[in-house]
Amino acid sequence: MDRYVVVGNPVGHSKSPLIHTAFAQQTGQQLEYSTLLSDIDCFTETMQEFFNSGGKGANVTVPFKQEACALAKHLTLEASTAGAVNTLYLDEQQHLCGHNTDGLGLVRDVLANHGGSLAGKQLLVLGAGGATRGILQPFLAQKPASLFIANRTVSKAEELASAFSALAEEAGVESLSGGGFDDLAGRQFDWVFNATSASLQGDLPPLPEGIVTQDTWCYDLMYSNEPTAFCQWAENSGAANVMDGLGMLVEQAAESFLVWRGIRPETADILARLRQS
Ligand code: NDP
Repeated sequence: MDRYVVVGNPVGHSKSPLIHTAFAQQTGQQLEYSTLLSDIDCFTETMQEFFNSGGKGANVTVPFKQEACALAKHLTLEASTAGAVNTLYLDEQQHLCGHNTDGLGLVRDVLANHGGSLAGKQLLVLGAGGATRGILQPFLAQKPASLFIANRTVSKAEELASAFSALAEEAGVESLSGGGFDDLAGRQFDWVFNATSASLQGDLPPLPEGIVTQDTWCYDLMYSNEPTAFCQWAENSGAANVMDGLGMLVEQAAESFLVWRGIRPETADILARLRQS
């Protein structure tokens, strides 16, 4: 049986085994997918042991995505621009390769599941951590009109905007810039993506009033059974379209499955099942 894992620390809470097992059943693929807890200091050894013993592929989660990027011999464009890898696989020469499917999964969720569009739109991304790094290239490839990154630590947002400026220019995006939450006053956006981890603590970034209208689509990358603090704020601000990151989770998994097995599973059933659980 081909073996796959999600490696992280902690990792016990991961929904990935459930999702990939459902994908395998649906597509008739023979594989086994489980969690793999790695010691914080032993990620490289853990991965070497896994692949040397015949493992076929791994999803990588917190806090190892940057280390996985350094470990891979070859990187896809998504992984190299993100500086982070969430999918490890072996190529035909058995070289370890790294891909990042987080941003692709988010874009797919927006376009295919929610019927949204990013092309020509004014985007706001809150947060400048690993998740934002992962979504910027796939976002820019959608050719939005503008993208503003707002972060608590302003310098990080500015640095990210500057690091992706060449890609933005290539894609014909008129404006890519970064700043703080205060810089949002008086502005309005078509999309607001919350890529801060504030929701994990039930917090909300200090957002000025008026940046969201009824037509603004609001997306929290985090997901939970109850509406997140950001989703509640968006609804209270009058946004008609408010969504969380469960679809992103399922879609990034489907992208990984495609890389490993050459077949893209349908995601609607498992997404509905996760929503109900
Ligand atoms: P990081 O730790 O790399 O970055 C956290 C970011 O949140 C930083 O920009 C930080 O600002 C900001 N932040 C943290 N607390 C607050 C606060 N109280 N107020 C304002 N800003 C705050 O995390 P990630 O980028 O890896 O993850 C971000 C979110 O994305 C998480 O909620 C995670 O669950 C979600 N995610 C969802 C995925 C999915 O499949 N649905 C996939 C990947 C991530 P500063 O720089 O100032 O510290």
